[in-house]
Amino acid sequence: MKRLAIFVFGLAAAMRAAPAQAALNVVTTTQDMASIAQEVGGDKIKITPLAKGYQDPHFVEAKPSFVLILNKANLLIVVGRDLEIGWLPPLITQSRNARIQPGAEGYLDPSTSAKILEMPTGAITRAEGDVHPLGNPHYWLDPENGRRIAKAIQAKLAQMDPANAPYYAQREADFEARLTAAQQRWKAQMAPYKGLKVITYHRSWANFADAFGLNVVGYVEPKPGIPPTPQHTLDVINAMKAQNIKIIIVEPYFDTKTPNSIASNTGAKVLVMPPSVGGVPPASDYFKLFDYDINLLVEAIKATGAK
Ligand SMILES: [Zn+2]
Repeated sequence: MKRLAIFVFGLAAAMRAAPAQAALNVVTTTQDMASIAQEVGGDKIKITPLAKGYQDPHFVEAKPSFVLILNKANLLIVVGRDLEIGWLPPLITQSRNARIQPGAEGYLDPSTSAKILEMPTGAITRAEGDVHPLGNPHYWLDPENGRRIAKAIQAKLAQMDPANAPYYAQREADFEARLTAAQQRWKAQMAPYKGLKVITYHRSWANFADAFGLNVVGYVEPKPGIPPTPQHTLDVINAMKAQNIKIIIVEPYFDTKTPNSIASNTGAKVLVMPPSVGGVPPASDYFKLFDYDINLLVEAIKATGAK
């Protein structure tokens, strides 16, 4: 009897202690946010990204399993700026999880502290299907924004799990130190090509171009989220011929038919380049994404003789 009492007491103590020791359950909408959250959270958090890096983050198939994942989350980290508006809001509602509703403690939108380009002037509109009504949501592609995202995640984790605040602060500082070193390397690789004119399929690369000195002068899409039209394609071909543009960057989830047709008319090279962690297997974390993209770009620039 005494032994049973000790056992029951021990079990109750273990159950009381469990929540404090359990890792925070963090869900991110993309693998980019998951990678940076992993850098900061280490083994004190458990991370589940929803979209895969090879999917168009504007148009993700909302699987029923996402509702169950969101139901158990302590913290949801989104990209924001309406990037996920086509698929995420109903999932958050269906999760019936009060902790992660927009505005709740467990909802983090790091875009509020990031440098956002292409901010709309005048009235905010989704006219003609523009999927970037609140500025360019592909902001993680500037490492300086990676730094800002990490800081926002660190502050949130420290708020939700104060006992491990020093751990998160140390890991965030370590991430920034490694990022600073990597940025110097990436900038040195890109330095010879400052001002290089390129065409991209979607407006995914505004922050990347800003960070590394590219000049994006046109898009295969007439507007973000709108498929190519014959007239717009002709305009792009003419602009590329007039300005001798030799590189067309295409995100992995777009059809290469129109880019290939533009390339065959202009002598340009189509470069399938992932804008997200997980877009291709070698781009397996935030650092490797830039390593992969910059190496790919530099090789293509050399191969085409683009200037
Ligand atoms: Zn977009």
